[in-house]
Amino acid sequence: MQDHQGASHEDQTPTPDDVARMYDNSSALLSEVMGGNIHLGYWDGDDDTRSVAEATDALTGMVADRLALSPGMRVLDIGCGTGRPAVYVAGTYDVHVTGITISPQQVELALARPEVGEGPGRVAFECADGMALPFPDGRFDAVYAIESFLHMDDRAKAIAEAARVLRPGGMLVMANPYVEGELTEAEAEIVAANRELFQIPPVGSADDYVGHLRDAGLEVTEVLDIGENVRRSHAVAADTVRRAGDGHDGAFRQQLSEVADIIERFGALPQVGYGLIAARTAAAR
Ligand code: SAH
Repeated sequence: MQDHQGASHEDQTPTPDDVARMYDNSSALLSEVMGGNIHLGYWDGDDDTRSVAEATDALTGMVADRLALSPGMRVLDIGCGTGRPAVYVAGTYDVHVTGITISPQQVELALARPEVGEGPGRVAFECADGMALPFPDGRFDAVYAIESFLHMDDRAKAIAEAARVLRPGGMLVMANPYVEGELTEAEAEIVAANRELFQIPPVGSADDYVGHLRDAGLEVTEVLDIGENVRRSHAVAADTVRRAGDGHDGAFRQQLSEVADIIERFGALPQVGYGLIAARTAAAR
């Protein structure tokens, strides 16, 4: 047995540059596979007929619903991808959303969106590292991070930074896959392959994230495990990647088929969960 980090692969911790390069190369394909978002979708059960775009937007909605938003607020999206979640949140709640990402290519794609601008309902994007945010203390009314903290090698620093730029009484909501419990050697290999594919440092557990939030002085208000609701996403993504290989030559097709296998096997591991975690900064006195 190995621990949930895949013990033999602990040396493969990616730098922000590694993560940026991976997303620079794959964001167009990934957003196509995931319905414009680059995160997993939420389904109510096997009978739920929601499309991938609807299911991934539904997950954005679950995060946003926990941010206690009201019109005119200023919101930060840490790890904004190509900007679809920011546009969804800005438009649905009439708030202004600033998105940051480590990938210059994602910033370029996001800045091409017609919703870019100032004021409520609009969005702004820039390239920045979540572990060193270029904003003053208390700048935002709410902060969220969908599947981005998992890429950061110093998650304690990243979460402390999120807390720093949040005003007193503001909400921070995050969504991340995690791995919990013992893994056989074969299972640890699958986790390690997935980490390598998506440039992920050792995968944290829900408790690790909660610990970082408390260390940053936040009050954790909710930990919701939606692992079974998002599980379908892995299989759907694997299918789409495999189909993308059809019509290509042998080597490329083989490469995509191997990527699809990793995604599918990772998503089928019962130890793989997914957490929505909400926390609040102490209110002003
Ligand atoms: N939240 C978006 C994208 C998720 S993909 C969505 O749901 O569609 C992961 C995102 O985290 C990417 O945008 C990636 O660039 C970002 N990310 C990873 N490490 C980062 C870092 N150190 N600083 C800023 N963004 C980072």
